[in-house]
Amino acid sequence: MSFELPQLPYSHDALEPHIDKRTMEIHHGKHHAGYTNNLNNAIKDTEMEGSSIEEILSSLDMTNMAVRNNGGGFFNHSLFWNILSPNGGGSPDENLLSAINVSFGSFENFKTAFSKAAATRFGSGWAWLCVHPGGELEVCSTANQDNPLMESIGCGGSPILGLDVWEHAYYLNYQNRRPDYIAGFFNVINWEAVSKSFLEKS
Ligand code: MN
Repeated sequence: MSFELPQLPYSHDALEPHIDKRTMEIHHGKHHAGYTNNLNNAIKDTEMEGSSIEEILSSLDMTNMAVRNNGGGFFNHSLFWNILSPNGGGSPDENLLSAINVSFGSFENFKTAFSKAAATRFGSGWAWLCVHPGGELEVCSTANQDNPLMESIGCGGSPILGLDVWEHAYYLNYQNRRPDYIAGFFNVINWEAVSKSFLEKS
Protein backbone atom coordinates (compact mmCIF):
# COMPACT_ATOMS: atom_id res chain seq x y z
CA MET A 1 0.00 0.00 0.00
CA SER A 2 1.31 3.43 -0.79
CA PHE A 3 0.15 6.96 -0.15
CA GLU A 4 -1.75 8.80 -2.86
CA LEU A 5 -1.85 12.48 -3.62
CA PRO A 6 -5.31 13.59 -2.44
CA GLN A 7 -7.45 15.49 -4.90
CA LEU A 8 -8.05 19.15 -4.22
CA PRO A 9 -11.61 19.58 -2.87
CA TYR A 10 -12.08 22.66 -5.14
CA SER A 11 -10.69 23.99 -8.40
CA HIS A 12 -7.23 25.54 -8.70
CA ASP A 13 -8.65 29.04 -9.11
CA ALA A 14 -11.26 28.72 -6.34
CA LEU A 15 -9.21 30.58 -3.73
CA GLU A 16 -8.42 33.61 -5.88
CA PRO A 17 -7.58 36.40 -5.32
CA HIS A 18 -6.13 35.30 -1.98
CA ILE A 19 -4.26 32.27 -3.33
CA ASP A 20 -3.73 32.32 -7.09
CA LYS A 21 -4.42 29.55 -9.58
CA ARG A 22 -0.82 29.06 -10.78
CA THR A 23 0.47 28.74 -7.22
CA MET A 24 -2.19 26.12 -6.47
CA GLU A 25 -1.33 24.15 -9.63
CA ILE A 26 2.37 24.01 -8.80
CA HIS A 27 1.89 23.64 -5.05
CA HIS A 28 -0.48 20.69 -5.31
CA GLY A 29 0.58 19.14 -8.61
CA LYS A 30 4.36 19.44 -8.16
CA HIS A 31 5.31 20.06 -4.53
CA HIS A 32 2.71 17.89 -2.79
CA ALA A 33 3.02 15.24 -5.50
CA GLY A 34 6.78 15.25 -4.97
CA TYR A 35 6.49 14.77 -1.20
CA THR A 36 4.04 11.92 -1.79
CA ASN A 37 6.28 10.08 -4.24
CA ASN A 38 9.38 10.60 -2.13
CA LEU A 39 7.56 9.37 1.00
CA ASN A 40 6.48 6.21 -0.80
CA ASN A 41 10.05 5.57 -1.93
CA ALA A 42 11.42 6.24 1.56
CA ILE A 43 9.12 3.76 3.35
CA LYS A 44 9.17 1.06 0.68
CA ASP A 45 10.19 -2.31 2.16
CA THR A 46 10.45 -0.86 5.67
CA GLU A 47 8.23 -1.60 8.69
CA MET A 48 6.54 1.78 8.11
CA GLU A 49 4.93 0.56 4.90
CA GLY A 50 1.23 -0.02 5.61
CA SER A 51 1.06 2.31 8.62
CA SER A 52 -1.03 5.48 8.66
CA ILE A 53 0.81 8.75 8.17
CA GLU A 54 -0.14 9.75 11.74
CA GLU A 55 1.42 6.54 13.10
CA ILE A 56 4.54 7.05 11.03
CA LEU A 57 5.09 10.66 12.10
CA SER A 58 4.27 10.20 15.79
CA SER A 59 6.78 7.36 16.24
CA LEU A 60 9.40 8.56 13.78
CA ASP A 61 13.15 8.36 14.28
CA MET A 62 13.79 12.08 13.72
CA THR A 63 17.18 11.38 12.16
CA ASN A 64 15.35 9.71 9.26
CA MET A 65 15.34 12.87 7.18
CA ALA A 66 13.71 11.36 4.08
CA VAL A 67 10.58 10.33 6.00
CA ARG A 68 10.68 13.38 8.27
CA ASN A 69 10.72 15.81 5.33
CA ASN A 70 8.50 13.95 2.88
CA GLY A 71 6.13 12.38 5.39
CA GLY A 72 5.76 15.78 7.00
CA GLY A 73 5.22 17.34 3.58
CA PHE A 74 2.61 14.73 2.69
CA PHE A 75 0.64 15.17 5.93
CA ASN A 76 0.94 18.96 6.17
CA HIS A 77 -0.32 19.64 2.66
CA SER A 78 -3.15 17.10 2.97
CA LEU A 79 -4.32 19.00 6.05
CA PHE A 80 -3.76 22.39 4.40
CA TRP A 81 -6.04 21.79 1.38
CA ASN A 82 -8.83 20.68 3.69
CA ILE A 83 -8.79 23.73 5.91
CA LEU A 84 -9.08 26.06 2.92
CA SER A 85 -12.34 26.90 1.19
CA PRO A 86 -13.57 29.37 -1.39
CA ASN A 87 -16.50 29.86 0.96
CA GLY A 88 -14.22 30.53 3.89
CA GLY A 89 -13.75 33.65 5.88
CA GLY A 90 -16.65 32.55 8.09
CA SER A 91 -16.30 31.90 11.77
CA PRO A 92 -15.47 29.05 14.09
CA ASP A 93 -18.57 27.32 15.46
CA GLU A 94 -19.73 27.94 19.03
CA ASN A 95 -17.62 25.16 20.57
CA LEU A 96 -14.40 26.23 18.91
CA LEU A 97 -15.04 29.91 19.46
CA SER A 98 -15.61 29.26 23.12
CA ALA A 99 -12.31 27.33 23.34
CA ILE A 100 -10.53 30.16 21.48
CA ASN A 101 -11.91 32.65 23.99
CA VAL A 102 -10.73 30.50 26.91
CA SER A 103 -7.23 29.97 25.51
CA PHE A 104 -6.55 33.36 23.91
CA GLY A 105 -9.10 35.77 25.41
CA SER A 106 -10.71 36.64 22.07
CA PHE A 107 -10.77 35.68 18.40
CA GLU A 108 -8.74 38.80 17.59
CA ASN A 109 -6.06 37.76 20.08
CA PHE A 110 -5.92 34.31 18.49
CA LYS A 111 -5.63 35.85 15.02
CA THR A 112 -2.79 38.10 16.19
CA ALA A 113 -0.93 35.19 17.82
CA PHE A 114 -1.36 32.92 14.79
CA SER A 115 -0.34 35.66 12.34
CA LYS A 116 2.73 36.42 14.42
CA ALA A 117 3.74 32.74 14.53
CA ALA A 118 3.42 32.61 10.73
CA ALA A 119 5.20 35.90 10.10
CA THR A 120 8.13 35.27 12.43
CA ARG A 121 8.92 31.71 11.31
CA PHE A 122 12.33 32.41 9.75
CA GLY A 123 12.78 30.69 6.40
CA SER A 124 10.47 27.80 5.56
CA GLY A 125 7.89 26.25 7.84
CA TRP A 126 4.35 26.21 9.13
CA ALA A 127 2.16 27.96 11.70
CA TRP A 128 -0.30 25.79 13.61
CA LEU A 129 -3.35 25.87 15.81
CA CYS A 130 -3.35 22.70 17.91
CA VAL A 131 -5.81 21.24 20.36
CA HIS A 132 -4.89 19.27 23.47
CA PRO A 133 -7.15 16.62 25.01
CA GLY A 134 -9.78 18.56 26.98
CA GLY A 135 -9.92 21.36 24.44
CA GLU A 136 -7.02 23.65 25.36
CA LEU A 137 -5.66 25.38 22.27
CA GLU A 138 -2.10 26.29 21.38
CA VAL A 139 -0.52 28.34 18.58
CA CYS A 140 2.99 27.39 17.52
CA SER A 141 5.21 27.05 14.48
CA THR A 142 7.60 24.45 13.10
CA ALA A 143 10.48 24.57 10.63
CA ASN A 144 10.59 22.95 7.21
CA GLN A 145 7.99 20.13 6.98
CA ASP A 146 8.03 19.29 10.67
CA ASN A 147 4.65 19.23 12.43
CA PRO A 148 3.10 18.83 15.88
CA LEU A 149 2.60 15.08 15.49
CA MET A 150 6.37 14.65 15.76
CA GLU A 151 7.84 14.18 19.22
CA SER A 152 9.83 16.90 21.00
CA ILE A 153 9.17 19.40 18.24
CA GLY A 154 8.23 22.19 20.66
CA CYS A 155 4.68 22.19 19.40
CA GLY A 156 2.17 19.82 20.97
CA GLY A 157 -1.37 18.57 20.58
CA SER A 158 -3.25 17.72 17.42
CA PRO A 159 -3.01 20.23 14.56
CA ILE A 160 -6.44 21.46 13.41
CA LEU A 161 -5.33 24.49 11.38
CA GLY A 162 -2.06 25.01 9.55
CA LEU A 163 -0.55 27.66 7.31
CA ASP A 164 2.26 26.91 4.89
CA VAL A 165 4.74 29.79 4.95
CA TRP A 166 7.26 28.32 2.51
CA GLU A 167 7.91 30.82 -0.28
CA HIS A 168 6.52 28.27 -2.77
CA ALA A 169 3.12 28.83 -1.11
CA TYR A 170 2.90 32.54 -1.90
CA TYR A 171 5.83 33.97 -3.85
CA LEU A 172 4.21 34.16 -7.32
CA ASN A 173 1.39 36.33 -6.00
CA TYR A 174 2.88 38.08 -2.99
CA GLN A 175 6.68 37.98 -3.55
CA ASN A 176 8.28 38.98 -0.23
CA ARG A 177 5.01 40.21 1.33
CA ARG A 178 4.37 37.28 3.64
CA PRO A 179 2.16 39.36 5.99
CA ASP A 180 -0.23 40.08 3.08
CA TYR A 181 -0.42 36.36 2.31
CA ILE A 182 -1.19 35.63 5.97
CA ALA A 183 -3.95 38.26 5.96
CA GLY A 184 -5.35 36.75 2.72
CA PHE A 185 -5.32 33.27 4.29
CA PHE A 186 -7.85 34.42 6.89
CA ASN A 187 -10.32 35.05 4.05
CA VAL A 188 -10.23 31.45 2.85
CA ILE A 189 -10.18 29.39 6.04
CA ASN A 190 -12.72 26.58 6.06
CA TRP A 191 -13.92 27.15 9.63
CA GLU A 192 -16.51 24.42 9.28
CA ALA A 193 -13.75 21.86 8.70
CA VAL A 194 -11.57 23.29 11.49
CA SER A 195 -14.51 23.26 13.92
CA LYS A 196 -15.27 19.64 13.04
CA SER A 197 -11.64 18.69 13.54
CA PHE A 198 -11.65 20.48 16.93
CA LEU A 199 -14.61 18.36 18.09
CA GLU A 200 -12.96 15.13 16.94
CA LYS A 201 -9.58 15.83 18.54
CA SER A 202 -10.41 17.67 21.76
MN1 MN B 1 3.96 23.81 0.59
